[in-house]
Formats: sequence, C-alpha cells, structure tokens
Amino acid sequence: MPDTLIPTADEARAEIERLSLRTQLFIDGGFRDAADGTRFTSVNPATGRPIAEVARGGPADVEAAVAAARRAADDGRWSRLNPGDRKQILVRWAHLIEAHARELGLIETIDAGKPITDTVGLDMPETAMCIRWHAEAADKLYGQVAPTPEGTVATITREPLGVVGAVIPWNYPAQMAAWKLGPALATGNTVVIKPASNTSLSLLRIAELAAEAGIPDGVLNVVTGPGDTVGEAIGRHPHIDGLAFTGSTEVGRRFLHYSAESNLKRVMLELGGKSPQLVFPDVIDFETIAANIAAAIFWNMGENCSAGSRLIVHRAVKERVLDALQAQMALWPVGDPLDPATKIGPMITRGQMEKVLGYVEIGRREGARVLTGGTQILEETGGWYVPPTVVDNVRNDMTIAREEIFGPVLSVIEFDTEAEAVAIANDTPYGLASSLYTENLNVAHRVARELQAGVVAVNCYSEGDMTTPFGGYKLSGFGGHDKSVHAHDQYTETKTIWIQLKAAG
Ligand code: NDP
Repeated sequence: MPDTLIPTADEARAEIERLSLRTQLFIDGGFRDAADGTRFTSVNPATGRPIAEVARGGPADVEAAVAAARRAADDGRWSRLNPGDRKQILVRWAHLIEAHARELGLIETIDAGKPITDTVGLDMPETAMCIRWHAEAADKLYGQVAPTPEGTVATITREPLGVVGAVIPWNYPAQMAAWKLGPALATGNTVVIKPASNTSLSLLRIAELAAEAGIPDGVLNVVTGPGDTVGEAIGRHPHIDGLAFTGSTEVGRRFLHYSAESNLKRVMLELGGKSPQLVFPDVIDFETIAANIAAAIFWNMGENCSAGSRLIVHRAVKERVLDALQAQMALWPVGDPLDPATKIGPMITRGQMEKVLGYVEIGRREGARVLTGGTQILEETGGWYVPPTVVDNVRNDMTIAREEIFGPVLSVIEFDTEAEAVAIANDTPYGLASSLYTENLNVAHRVARELQAGVVAVNCYSEGDMTTPFGGYKLSGFGGHDKSVHAHDQYTETKTIWIQLKAAG
C-alpha cells in the first residue's frame, strides 16, 4: 500500500525520532564504512543542526564499487536476466518505495529542507512511478531488421553500456536518482551512483529497498562523499562505460574532461537554466497565469534547474500580471518544512542562501527594484530562509537575468513586440525550459518553435511528464535526455549484426 498520507508536524517529529538512518556506503549488496573510516556531517537546513554522520567515501571506495558493478555487469546476473524478470524485480522495488514513501519523505525533508507535503506527497510517489515506468518498458524494447540486399540479414539491437556512473544533485535527491537509475537499470546496466554530499540519506535507504526487492548484489552501488574526490574518481574511472550527471554547468563541463582524459565514456549532462516565462498582451485569465508563474519560480524554493526565473511580460499587461502575482504571495507560506502548510522551506545551505541574497543585492546595485522579499527571514530558527522575491525593472543584460540564481527570485523584464520577446528569451547561454502565455494559437505555435529550449510549456508551467523527454539546449544539457523511452538510448549501445546467407543447395 502506498504510504503517502502527509503527517502533521507533531507526528512528523515523533516519527523522525524513530528513524533509523542508513549512513554507510552501499557496495556489493551491503553497507560498509569508508575504507579510511572517515565521515562527514549532514545538516538539517531548517535548523542548521547535524542530523547524521555519513561515510566519507574516497577513491578506494569508488574502486570497490566499480569492481562490484563490473563483476555484476560481466557475469550477466542482471543484463542476461529475462527482461520480464528484470521488470518484475524493478516493479517490486517501486512498490517498496511507495510503501515507504512517508519514511523516505521524512528523511528527505530533514536532509534537504524540502516541504513535507512535497516529499511525501510528490517526490516519493514520482520516484516510484519513474522506476515503475522504465521497468515496464524493459520487456517492450524491440530491435530492428535493416532493409539489406537479398542474401543478407542485418539486425540492429541495443545492448546495455555495462557499468553506468551517476552523480546527482541535492535539489531532488530521490527523484534525480530515479531519473538515472530507472532507465539505466531497466536496460540492463549496473550502476555506481554518488548522491550530493548535502543529501545522501534518502538514496541509501532506497538502495536498501532495492536489495529487499531482489536487485542482485553489485548491480546498484552507492558511494557517498565529496564531488572532487568521489565524483571525479567516478568520472575518470576506466571501467565505467557511461556517466549521467545532473548539476551545475561548471561541474558538468568537468565530466567531459574526465571522459576525454580517460576512456571516452558516454557522458549525459542535465545542467542549469535561466528559463523564460513569456506573457503576451492578449491574455485574459491573470489569476491562473500568476499561479503558474509563481509555481515556476517558487516551487522547491526556486532550487530547480527548470525554474522560470525570467518573467518577460508585455508592457501593456505588466501591472495586471504583477498585481495578480502579488495576490499569489500569500499562497506560498515560508516556514518549517515539517509543517504541512509550508510551501517554501529553507535554502539547502547557508552558502546557497548567501549566494541567492547576493544576487538580489547585485540586482539592486545594477538598477533593478526589489518589489517583495530579498532578505533572510526566520533567522531565529537557525535555518536559511529566503522568501519569494520579485525584482522589477530588470534588463536582460543584468547579472540577475544572466546567471542561474537557484533560489526563489523572479526577474521581471518588459517587452513591446513578439520579436523582441523571443530575442530576449533566447538571449541566454541556457536553454532548458520555457513557458508562454497567449490566447492566440498562431502566437503559441510560432513562438514555441522559435524558443531555444528543450521544453516549451504553453499556457502552463510544466516539464511534461514521464512520457516526454527532458533535457536542454546550449549550456543546459549534453548527450541525452532524462525520462521517456528516449532516456533508454543513452544507456545502450547500438549493435549491427550482418549475416551473409549461403545460397540454397
Ligand atoms: P554541483 O554541480 O557542484 O554538484 C552536483 C553534484 O556534482 C554533486 O553530487 C557534487 O558533489 C558533484 N560534484 C561537485 N564537484 C565535482 C567534481 N569536481 N567532480 C565530480 N563531481 C562533482 O552543484 P552544487 O550543489 O554545488 O550547486 C551549485 C550550483 O549549481 C547551484 O547554485 C545551481 O546553480 C546549480 N545546480 C543545478 C542543478 C540542476 O538541477 N541542474 C542541481 C544543483 C545545482 P558534492 O555534493 O559532494 O559537492
């Protein structure tokens, strides 16, 4: 049974006391300490207080994890399973994640500061759904027969890469893991995955559930620890065949270097964004549009690669849109993430909060006007809270319009013509997501085609769902997509088998 009932704050606190957190590396089907025995502290962003001491893996632990994953890949205990059996095991795993959604959501909330309503109600069900979706495709992936000349047969089939490395961020710890693990495991690979140091805990418990579901030893390995040691060792390892990463563009670039300087492993990067939200002058339903605009930028504290951080609005409707947006503010209460009423929890770290507030200050200095928010609140809690922030009079060449802030900060930019709106939207090094609002079907189609972004949402804020690919243009992505059957391509090699038939007699 899915356990997705949101606890009250009191229930949540009582259940947290009873949590038994997994804090060791998960390698070859079991938990173990780091080879050198060291640990690092995981902190609750809502209180600034420690919650766990987590094993600090290093290159020796990556070596052990890759060795286990390599053995499991080479002996075929996973890749050569009947695809239907692989599917059943992964579906069982998805059921277990759902059955533990409340426990996992609590872990995610105290580790990442994400509101409990989101972690229990959305993140964990979506994590399970992602695993199940890819699992169910495992026995429905067909090869092809090529149209070759008489007397020959050529088949085109997909084979697993072998060992996949994955390095993931802290903003959606469980979901980002699932976006990599679902397609990589469904297509028969084994995996070594590193969670972000700020948020290791949910993945360790999810890995334990994988073993309970019957995923064989060595198929899924989790190495916790710092990016510049564990992450780099994964990126450079000669026995890892493919690498999937979500995080900053800066670190994403490094993985291309690691690959180039090691074994040319396949690299798939899902990176940052500076996504535009365009509002055209013919819009009517300001309340719905404002609700979507707010969700696009305030959801998950704005710590979201697809956050709609630039509102590009026609001069004629700007004031009405901003008034409607102001009315939305009350619907985004900031506070204790264990309170089911909270929609905005703390920033992940003090450093992230300072970075976000620093950008607001730079915006002020460059001539923008802060309409609401822009300062730390709830300091007495020990947490790192930034309220929803709207900054007006922004020009697209200002720092806050160009750089990824990764916080609840919306920059408002005016336009006069459709061509100008498109030019502003595309004038960014990024190209992940975008939205546009109009009543005119011609404008919708025309502009949707012109926007340089992996996802264009029309009259809504959306990344699509599990059936649609997610990935970015320009500095937002490289080498593949998350979600949908398209995600299976990057975790498989294409093989041609060419057969010469002998003539009869
Ligand atoms: P990073 O890109 O630094 O971290 C993402 C992952 O990469 C983490 O697991 C991290 O490990 C690992 N990593 C860090 N350095 C290296 C390295 N040298 N080699 C290999 N792996 C490495 O993001 P941050 O968490 O530092 O956030 C910085 C900014 O990145 C944010 O403000 C935001 O702008 C952007 N970002 C974008 C995300 C997205 O979804 N596209 C997600 C997260 C951040 P560790 O945690 O141990 O450092």
